[in-house]
Amino acid sequence: MKEILFRSTNRQAEQVSFKEALLKGQAPDYGLYVPISIPELSREKIKEFARMPYYQIAFQIARMYISEEDFPSSVLLELCRQAYNFPVPLRKVDRNLFVLYLDKGPTASFKDFAARLMARMMDYIASKENRNLTVLVATSGDTGGAIADAFFGLGNINVVVLFPEKEVTGRQRKQMTTLRKNIWPIAVKGTFDDCQAIVKRAFNDPCLRGKNLTSANSINFGRLLPQSVYYFKAYCEIAAEKVVFSVPSGNFGNLMGGVLAREMGLPVEKFIVAVNENDEFPRFLETGIYKPVFPSRKCSSNAMNVGHPSNLARLIDLYGGWLTDERDTSGKVIRKGVLKKPPDMDLMRKHFVSFSINDSAVDDVIREVYKKYNLLIEPHGAISIAAALKSGLDVPVCCFETADPAKFPEKIKQLLNFEPPVPDHLKKIDDKEENFIVIENDYENFVEAIP
Ligand SMILES: *Cc1c(COP(=O)(O)O)cnc(C)c1O
Repeated sequence: MKEILFRSTNRQAEQVSFKEALLKGQAPDYGLYVPISIPELSREKIKEFARMPYYQIAFQIARMYISEEDFPSSVLLELCRQAYNFPVPLRKVDRNLFVLYLDKGPTASFKDFAARLMARMMDYIASKENRNLTVLVATSGDTGGAIADAFFGLGNINVVVLFPEKEVTGRQRKQMTTLRKNIWPIAVKGTFDDCQAIVKRAFNDPCLRGKNLTSANSINFGRLLPQSVYYFKAYCEIAAEKVVFSVPSGNFGNLMGGVLAREMGLPVEKFIVAVNENDEFPRFLETGIYKPVFPSRKCSSNAMNVGHPSNLARLIDLYGGWLTDERDTSGKVIRKGVLKKPPDMDLMRKHFVSFSINDSAVDDVIREVYKKYNLLIEPHGAISIAAALKSGLDVPVCCFETADPAKFPEKIKQLLNFEPPVPDHLKKIDDKEENFIVIENDYENFVEAIP
């Protein structure tokens, strides 16, 4: 097998292996790593996945991108087995409406899929090569908890999590702030975009080189690969010729997992890109003009409050365009999201439809599906379902529930008048003591705060 190399979307950085892309996170030219070629799976091979446990599918897919030398098969299989020790149920809700539950992992968000495999892969490399790593991550809600949980207690890795002080729920915050040991949570007086800007800058700061910074945000290709696996699983279970996926999207990491799956040969009819009131993508698809939403709008689906999705650079790259941020010589972004070269818009419009769902429509659909189908969903899943219903597509549509409703108890109580049942692993954190620092939205403040 020929090893698959990765290049940067900005095309100025050297090509690297999966392992290096995983450890670097972002390319040195501020671009995002994308595979130079995408391996294809035959229809027969995909059908074989129907008979495999989830971790085996994950292994088969990872194996195509990762060299035997970096991760021997026995190791990779074992890491997958440990990472995916929770169910991934699919529920048929209506004739053509399915929901795949991605919220059954330890932090009850779909981020567990990527975080758990990434943590194990990074830990394996760090101990094999006797290196210390600092994982730096910005979160708008769920990434921080999933990353913190997945990396907690690892000997060679520190985790620094930045979150917007006022934009995460109590339970989301507690998932990051009650662990301690190698987990360092920092609340920023600003928005998620501010946190993300700090993180992006830190990766290219020569003063921080000694920390061996690596990213656990969805700018890391290591996040995307695990997120392509459940698309195969859903497809096999729905057992239709072609399937549509309605993806509740923030930074488009989930979506890119699906896009990757289609490039690998999965018969996907279309993707519905479901977003909240941060509607830069549906507007772009309609007009061909890209304009980030700044500042990002605060919606009840807080993990999707993204006005400039980081993975859009990858998506546009795949369709032949070039999207990048303009920077001054110090690396500071002076203009976000500049479309230097337009992608093939006709092809994109064939492959994607996109809907922006506002908060009141989210509330409506949470009430409606509970009444009609006895289906309890939270705001992120609601956006997926609302967009699927809005699309009017009369083919099998797979929606995603990406977080457990128990993470949004106030919302559920307000709309349905009962408290959502809390899974045991979420209950545990409720009484634990929190520990975190708060900083101004300022890069120098951040540099002083990291361990
Ligand atoms: C992160 C997240 C999303 C959005 O996923 P992206 O990969 O950023 O598009 C949706 N729902 C939940 C619950 C999340 O945590």
